[in-house]
Amino acid sequence: MQPLVLGSFPVGLSAVLPQKLESTMPDKTNENGTSHESKDLIVFEIVRDSECAECQKELLAHDFLFMEDRRPLCLTCADLDHLAYLPRGDTALTRRSRKYSSLRAVVVRFSRARKRYERQGVLVEQAALDRAEEECRADAAERVADREKAGLRRVEQDRDLAARMTELIQGLYPGCPPTEAQAIALHTSRRGSGRVGRSAAGRALETEAANAAVIAAIRHRHTRYDQLLMRGYSRKHARDAVYGAICDLLQRWRARS
Ligand SMILES: [Zn+2]
Repeated sequence: MQPLVLGSFPVGLSAVLPQKLESTMPDKTNENGTSHESKDLIVFEIVRDSECAECQKELLAHDFLFMEDRRPLCLTCADLDHLAYLPRGDTALTRRSRKYSSLRAVVVRFSRARKRYERQGVLVEQAALDRAEEECRADAAERVADREKAGLRRVEQDRDLAARMTELIQGLYPGCPPTEAQAIALHTSRRGSGRVGRSAAGRALETEAANAAVIAAIRHRHTRYDQLLMRGYSRKHARDAVYGAICDLLQRWRARS
């Protein structure tokens, strides 16, 4: 049955896909970063209505569409409608489903905000998905344990870093009260704070980070800086106003108490 087409329908390729498709296409690697020998097919979750070029079925926004020789096809006409959709999110399940599926497609959607295609999920054979789900169920406990172990390792690393940082601060500022040195170190080494270069935790970098952290701590805890900000001072003016006080305390902390 031919649907009544009003105005803008059907849309051609240009309306569905932006120009320079190649440059905005998602990476042809899987979620582990390893590349597969065979390329995945690409299926588009469309952002605006279209129509299948073969059966003329109306395709609404969020429907899936396959491009064949620049013609939009519905998944039935593209011989892909027997595949099961697995939205992104479960890395292990996705990896295994793809491994067992001889025919598979990556589903992408164009993000207008970010101006690029973004991976939404995969289309895989139902049998592959079933097998993958079974495997994931079987070793779910093991994978949870692995994640917990990794989490503990991170906590340990944080603790090591905080201890090292405390030592460093006390070495640089012998006059700094130990509890304060510890508090600054903890704050600085907190995972994700981005104040310390963890990966390249060279001594120089850590020293620089320690100095910056000590200055920041002094500014907030031992000067009127925060009050000045609250009173509407600009950051620069507030910094200038407390500069002398910071230098004084730094000097005192550098000297042995
Ligand atoms: Zn069709």
